[in-house]
Amino acid sequence: MTDNIQVTIVGSSNVDITALMNRLPGPGETVLADSYQLSPGGKGANQALAAQLAGARTEFIGAVGEDSHAKIALGQLEEAGVKLDRVSTSRQPTGVAIIQVDSGAENSIAVVSGANSTVTAEVVNAAGTLHGIVVLQGEIPASGIKTAMDLATDKVVLNLAPVIELDRDYLLKANPLVVNEHEAALILQQLDGSETMSTEAEPVIAEKLMAHGLASLVITLGANGCLVVEQGTEMQQLSAVKVKALDTTGAGDAFTGAVAARLAHGDTLAQAADFAGKFAALTVQAHGAQASYPRSLDAL
Ligand code: ATP
Repeated sequence: MTDNIQVTIVGSSNVDITALMNRLPGPGETVLADSYQLSPGGKGANQALAAQLAGARTEFIGAVGEDSHAKIALGQLEEAGVKLDRVSTSRQPTGVAIIQVDSGAENSIAVVSGANSTVTAEVVNAAGTLHGIVVLQGEIPASGIKTAMDLATDKVVLNLAPVIELDRDYLLKANPLVVNEHEAALILQQLDGSETMSTEAEPVIAEKLMAHGLASLVITLGANGCLVVEQGTEMQQLSAVKVKALDTTGAGDAFTGAVAARLAHGDTLAQAADFAGKFAALTVQAHGAQASYPRSLDAL
Protein backbone atom coordinates (compact mmCIF):
# COMPACT_ATOMS: atom_id res chain seq x y z
CA MET A 1 0.00 0.00 0.00
CA THR A 2 1.74 3.16 -1.17
CA ASP A 3 -0.98 5.65 -0.07
CA ASN A 4 -0.28 7.35 -3.42
CA ILE A 5 2.83 8.93 -2.00
CA GLN A 6 4.08 11.69 -4.33
CA VAL A 7 7.26 12.74 -2.52
CA THR A 8 9.59 10.57 -0.41
CA ILE A 9 12.20 12.31 1.72
CA VAL A 10 15.07 10.18 2.99
CA GLY A 11 17.02 12.20 5.53
CA SER A 12 17.69 13.61 8.97
CA SER A 13 15.45 14.60 11.84
CA ASN A 14 16.67 16.38 14.95
CA VAL A 15 15.59 18.17 18.06
CA ASP A 16 16.99 21.69 18.20
CA ILE A 17 17.83 22.70 21.77
CA THR A 18 18.12 26.48 21.63
CA ALA A 19 19.33 28.50 24.62
CA LEU A 20 19.07 32.30 24.53
CA MET A 21 21.73 34.26 26.43
CA ASN A 22 23.27 37.70 26.65
CA ARG A 23 26.64 36.50 25.36
CA LEU A 24 28.10 33.18 24.23
CA PRO A 25 30.44 31.43 26.72
CA GLY A 26 34.14 31.26 25.86
CA PRO A 27 36.13 27.99 26.26
CA GLY A 28 35.89 26.72 29.86
CA GLU A 29 33.35 29.39 30.79
CA THR A 30 29.78 29.04 32.09
CA VAL A 31 27.18 31.72 31.45
CA LEU A 32 23.59 31.83 32.68
CA ALA A 33 21.09 31.59 29.82
CA ASP A 34 17.73 33.38 29.93
CA SER A 35 15.59 30.62 28.46
CA TYR A 36 15.64 27.60 26.20
CA GLN A 37 13.30 25.80 23.88
CA LEU A 38 13.07 22.42 22.18
CA SER A 39 11.90 22.41 18.59
CA PRO A 40 11.86 19.90 15.74
CA GLY A 41 14.50 20.29 13.02
CA GLY A 42 16.86 18.42 10.73
CA LYS A 43 16.91 19.13 7.01
CA GLY A 44 15.07 15.95 6.05
CA ALA A 45 12.22 16.48 8.49
CA ASN A 46 11.96 20.19 7.61
CA GLN A 47 11.74 19.37 3.91
CA ALA A 48 9.17 16.63 4.52
CA LEU A 49 6.92 19.05 6.40
CA ALA A 50 7.35 21.66 3.65
CA ALA A 51 6.51 19.17 0.87
CA GLN A 52 3.38 18.00 2.70
CA LEU A 53 2.22 21.56 3.48
CA ALA A 54 2.94 22.58 -0.12
CA GLY A 55 0.35 20.01 -1.21
CA ALA A 56 2.12 16.68 -1.87
CA ARG A 57 1.34 13.43 -0.07
CA THR A 58 4.73 12.91 1.55
CA GLU A 59 6.61 10.10 3.27
CA PHE A 60 9.62 10.66 5.53
CA ILE A 61 12.18 7.86 5.91
CA GLY A 62 14.86 8.35 8.57
CA ALA A 63 15.79 7.20 12.05
CA VAL A 64 15.20 8.35 15.63
CA GLY A 65 16.32 7.03 19.02
CA GLU A 66 14.34 5.24 21.70
CA ASP A 67 14.12 8.42 23.74
CA SER A 68 11.74 11.25 24.56
CA HIS A 69 13.25 13.47 21.84
CA ALA A 70 11.89 11.18 19.11
CA LYS A 71 8.33 12.41 19.71
CA ILE A 72 9.44 16.04 19.45
CA ALA A 73 11.51 15.39 16.31
CA LEU A 74 8.54 13.85 14.47
CA GLY A 75 5.63 15.67 16.16
CA GLN A 76 4.95 18.30 13.49
CA LEU A 77 5.28 15.74 10.71
CA GLU A 78 2.74 13.48 12.38
CA GLU A 79 0.35 16.36 12.93
CA ALA A 80 0.60 17.40 9.28
CA GLY A 81 -0.10 13.84 8.08
CA VAL A 82 3.36 12.92 6.72
CA LYS A 83 3.66 9.12 6.42
CA LEU A 84 6.13 7.91 9.06
CA ASP A 85 5.69 4.09 9.04
CA ARG A 86 9.20 3.49 7.72
CA VAL A 87 11.09 5.69 10.18
CA SER A 88 13.40 3.26 11.96
CA THR A 89 14.27 3.21 15.65
CA SER A 90 17.94 3.15 16.51
CA ARG A 91 19.98 2.42 19.63
CA GLN A 92 21.64 5.75 18.97
CA PRO A 93 19.89 8.81 20.45
CA THR A 94 17.63 11.03 18.34
CA GLY A 95 19.82 13.62 16.61
CA VAL A 96 20.16 16.92 18.44
CA ALA A 97 21.45 20.35 17.51
CA ILE A 98 22.64 22.26 20.58
CA ILE A 99 22.28 25.92 19.66
CA GLN A 100 23.42 28.93 21.69
CA VAL A 101 22.17 32.34 20.57
CA ASP A 102 23.33 35.67 22.03
CA SER A 103 21.48 38.99 22.18
CA GLY A 104 23.00 40.05 18.84
CA ALA A 105 21.63 36.87 17.17
CA GLU A 106 25.17 35.45 16.87
CA ASN A 107 25.09 31.70 17.40
CA SER A 108 27.23 28.63 17.96
CA ILE A 109 25.90 25.19 17.10
CA ALA A 110 27.01 21.64 17.89
CA VAL A 111 25.18 18.84 16.06
CA VAL A 112 25.07 15.29 17.38
CA SER A 113 23.96 13.15 14.42
CA GLY A 114 22.97 10.19 16.62
CA ALA A 115 20.30 8.08 14.90
CA ASN A 116 20.74 10.01 11.63
CA SER A 117 24.15 8.40 11.25
CA THR A 118 22.41 4.99 11.06
CA VAL A 119 20.51 5.88 7.85
CA THR A 120 23.01 3.88 5.81
CA ALA A 121 22.65 1.70 2.70
CA GLU A 122 21.41 -1.15 4.89
CA VAL A 123 18.61 0.85 6.52
CA VAL A 124 17.50 2.46 3.23
CA ASN A 125 17.54 -0.92 1.46
CA ALA A 126 15.47 -2.43 4.25
CA ALA A 127 12.86 0.30 3.70
CA GLY A 128 12.28 -1.04 0.17
CA THR A 129 10.56 0.78 -2.70
CA LEU A 130 10.70 4.58 -2.68
CA HIS A 131 7.59 6.22 -4.13
CA GLY A 132 7.35 9.38 -6.21
CA ILE A 133 9.96 12.11 -6.28
CA VAL A 134 12.84 11.31 -3.91
CA VAL A 135 14.45 14.15 -1.94
CA LEU A 136 17.88 13.81 -0.30
CA GLN A 137 20.23 16.05 1.71
CA GLY A 138 23.75 15.76 3.14
CA GLU A 139 22.89 14.99 6.78
CA ILE A 140 22.84 11.18 6.44
CA PRO A 141 25.75 8.93 5.40
CA ALA A 142 26.70 8.93 1.70
CA SER A 143 25.88 5.21 1.48
CA GLY A 144 22.25 5.97 2.43
CA ILE A 145 22.06 8.74 -0.17
CA LYS A 146 23.48 6.52 -2.91
CA THR A 147 21.14 3.63 -2.09
CA ALA A 148 18.12 5.95 -2.13
CA MET A 149 19.23 7.17 -5.56
CA ASP A 150 19.54 3.56 -6.76
CA LEU A 151 16.03 2.76 -5.48
CA ALA A 152 14.40 5.92 -6.88
CA THR A 153 12.04 5.34 -9.80
CA ASP A 154 11.23 9.02 -10.37
CA LYS A 155 13.27 12.25 -10.25
CA VAL A 156 15.79 12.77 -7.45
CA VAL A 157 15.93 16.24 -5.87
CA LEU A 158 19.36 16.50 -4.25
CA ASN A 159 19.94 19.27 -1.71
CA LEU A 160 23.54 18.40 -0.87
CA ALA A 161 23.67 20.44 2.34
CA PRO A 162 26.03 20.17 4.01
CA VAL A 163 28.25 19.29 1.06
CA ILE A 164 29.68 15.81 1.64
CA GLU A 165 31.84 13.67 -0.65
CA LEU A 166 29.64 11.91 -3.19
CA ASP A 167 30.86 10.02 -6.29
CA ARG A 168 30.55 11.98 -9.49
CA ASP A 169 28.07 9.47 -11.02
CA TYR A 170 25.74 9.98 -8.08
CA LEU A 171 26.08 13.77 -8.01
CA LEU A 172 25.04 13.78 -11.65
CA LYS A 173 21.86 11.79 -10.89
CA ALA A 174 20.43 14.90 -9.23
CA ASN A 175 17.50 16.32 -11.23
CA PRO A 176 17.50 18.98 -9.96
CA LEU A 177 20.45 19.70 -7.70
CA VAL A 178 19.16 22.41 -5.31
CA VAL A 179 21.88 24.28 -3.39
CA ASN A 180 22.76 27.74 -2.14
CA GLU A 181 25.60 29.72 -3.68
CA HIS A 182 28.22 28.53 -1.19
CA GLU A 183 27.29 24.86 -1.65
CA ALA A 184 27.26 25.31 -5.45
CA ALA A 185 30.88 26.53 -5.37
CA LEU A 186 31.93 23.62 -3.12
CA ILE A 187 30.28 21.03 -5.39
CA LEU A 188 31.94 22.57 -8.45
CA GLN A 189 35.26 22.26 -6.64
CA GLN A 190 34.46 18.58 -5.99
CA LEU A 191 33.53 17.92 -9.63
CA ASP A 192 36.56 19.83 -10.94
CA GLY A 193 38.85 18.02 -8.49
CA SER A 194 40.23 21.48 -7.73
CA GLU A 195 42.35 22.60 -4.77
CA THR A 196 40.50 25.88 -4.44
CA MET A 197 36.88 26.98 -4.34
CA SER A 198 35.60 29.16 -7.19
CA THR A 199 34.83 32.78 -6.34
CA GLU A 200 33.18 33.40 -9.70
CA ALA A 201 29.66 34.85 -10.05
CA GLU A 202 26.78 32.40 -9.50
CA PRO A 203 25.68 32.26 -13.18
CA VAL A 204 29.24 31.25 -14.15
CA ILE A 205 29.30 28.57 -11.44
CA ALA A 206 25.87 27.36 -12.64
CA GLU A 207 27.10 27.08 -16.23
CA LYS A 208 30.20 25.19 -15.15
CA LEU A 209 28.14 22.77 -13.02
CA MET A 210 25.81 22.14 -15.97
CA ALA A 211 28.85 21.54 -18.23
CA HIS A 212 29.67 18.55 -16.03
CA GLY A 213 26.43 16.96 -17.27
CA LEU A 214 23.83 17.81 -14.61
CA ALA A 215 20.26 17.54 -15.92
CA SER A 216 19.01 20.53 -13.96
CA LEU A 217 20.06 22.92 -11.22
CA VAL A 218 18.63 25.53 -8.87
CA ILE A 219 20.99 27.86 -6.98
CA THR A 220 19.18 29.72 -4.20
CA LEU A 221 20.35 33.26 -3.48
CA GLY A 222 18.49 34.22 -0.30
CA ALA A 223 16.70 37.57 -0.70
CA ASN A 224 17.99 37.68 -4.29
CA GLY A 225 15.83 34.73 -5.37
CA CYS A 226 17.32 31.87 -7.36
CA LEU A 227 18.87 30.73 -10.63
CA VAL A 228 17.13 27.94 -12.53
CA VAL A 229 18.73 26.03 -15.38
CA GLU A 230 17.91 22.84 -17.27
CA GLN A 231 19.95 21.17 -20.03
CA GLY A 232 19.06 22.73 -23.36
CA THR A 233 17.30 25.79 -21.94
CA GLU A 234 18.34 29.35 -21.11
CA MET A 235 19.23 30.08 -17.49
CA GLN A 236 16.54 32.04 -15.65
CA GLN A 237 16.95 34.29 -12.60
CA LEU A 238 13.78 34.39 -10.50
CA SER A 239 13.40 37.27 -8.03
CA ALA A 240 12.48 36.64 -4.41
CA VAL A 241 9.29 38.13 -3.02
CA LYS A 242 10.11 41.40 -1.21
CA VAL A 243 9.29 40.84 2.45
CA LYS A 244 10.55 41.95 5.85
CA ALA A 245 12.63 38.95 6.94
CA LEU A 246 12.41 38.13 10.65
CA ASP A 247 14.14 34.73 10.77
CA THR A 248 15.45 32.86 7.73
CA THR A 249 16.11 29.57 9.60
CA GLY A 250 14.85 26.69 7.49
CA ALA A 251 14.04 28.85 4.44
CA GLY A 252 16.24 26.71 2.21
CA ASP A 253 14.49 23.55 3.43
CA ALA A 254 11.06 25.09 2.86
CA PHE A 255 12.16 25.95 -0.67
CA THR A 256 13.45 22.44 -1.46
CA GLY A 257 10.38 20.68 -0.05
CA ALA A 258 8.07 22.97 -2.00
CA VAL A 259 10.03 22.45 -5.25
CA ALA A 260 9.59 18.69 -4.87
CA ALA A 261 5.87 19.05 -4.13
CA ARG A 262 5.27 21.14 -7.24
CA LEU A 263 7.39 18.89 -9.48
CA ALA A 264 5.22 16.00 -8.26
CA HIS A 265 2.19 17.96 -9.47
CA GLY A 266 3.72 18.26 -12.95
CA ASP A 267 5.13 21.81 -12.82
CA THR A 268 8.19 22.67 -14.88
CA LEU A 269 11.29 23.36 -12.79
CA ALA A 270 10.92 27.13 -13.27
CA GLN A 271 7.24 26.98 -12.21
CA ALA A 272 8.15 24.85 -9.18
CA ALA A 273 10.97 27.23 -8.16
CA ASP A 274 8.69 30.24 -8.55
CA PHE A 275 6.12 28.65 -6.24
CA ALA A 276 8.84 27.56 -3.80
CA GLY A 277 10.20 31.13 -3.65
CA LYS A 278 6.75 32.39 -2.61
CA PHE A 279 6.38 29.56 -0.09
CA ALA A 280 9.84 30.24 1.41
CA ALA A 281 9.16 33.99 1.56
CA LEU A 282 6.21 33.27 3.88
CA THR A 283 8.48 31.29 6.20
CA VAL A 284 11.08 34.05 6.67
CA GLN A 285 8.40 36.33 8.11
CA ALA A 286 7.92 34.15 11.21
CA HIS A 287 10.29 32.75 13.84
CA GLY A 288 11.68 29.21 13.84
CA ALA A 289 12.04 26.58 11.13
CA GLN A 290 9.09 24.16 11.05
CA ALA A 291 7.01 26.53 13.18
CA SER A 292 7.26 29.17 10.43
CA TYR A 293 6.00 26.94 7.61
CA PRO A 294 2.56 28.00 6.33
CA ARG A 295 -0.29 25.70 7.44
CA SER A 296 -2.50 27.11 4.68
CA LEU A 297 -1.67 28.01 1.10
CA ASP A 298 -4.34 30.73 0.94
CA ALA A 299 -1.70 33.49 0.94
CA LEU A 300 -0.03 32.07 -2.19
P1 ATP B 1 19.03 28.34 5.15
O1 ATP B 1 20.32 27.57 5.31
O2 ATP B 1 18.96 29.62 5.95
O3 ATP B 1 17.80 27.52 5.32
P2 ATP B 1 19.75 28.50 2.34
O4 ATP B 1 21.06 29.25 2.29
O5 ATP B 1 19.76 27.05 2.08
O6 ATP B 1 18.97 28.87 3.66
P3 ATP B 1 18.50 30.66 0.90
O7 ATP B 1 19.11 30.87 -0.45
O8 ATP B 1 18.86 31.59 1.99
O9 ATP B 1 18.72 29.14 1.30
O10 ATP B 1 16.90 30.72 0.78
C1 ATP B 1 16.15 29.83 -0.03
C2 ATP B 1 15.04 30.59 -0.74
O11 ATP B 1 14.19 31.19 0.25
C3 ATP B 1 15.52 31.74 -1.61
O12 ATP B 1 15.83 31.30 -2.92
C4 ATP B 1 14.31 32.66 -1.59
O13 ATP B 1 13.35 32.24 -2.54
C5 ATP B 1 13.74 32.46 -0.20
N1 ATP B 1 14.26 33.49 0.72
C6 ATP B 1 15.31 33.38 1.58
N2 ATP B 1 15.53 34.54 2.24
C7 ATP B 1 14.58 35.40 1.81
C8 ATP B 1 14.26 36.77 2.10
N3 ATP B 1 14.97 37.48 2.97
N4 ATP B 1 13.21 37.31 1.43
C9 ATP B 1 12.47 36.61 0.56
N5 ATP B 1 12.73 35.32 0.24
C10 ATP B 1 13.77 34.72 0.84
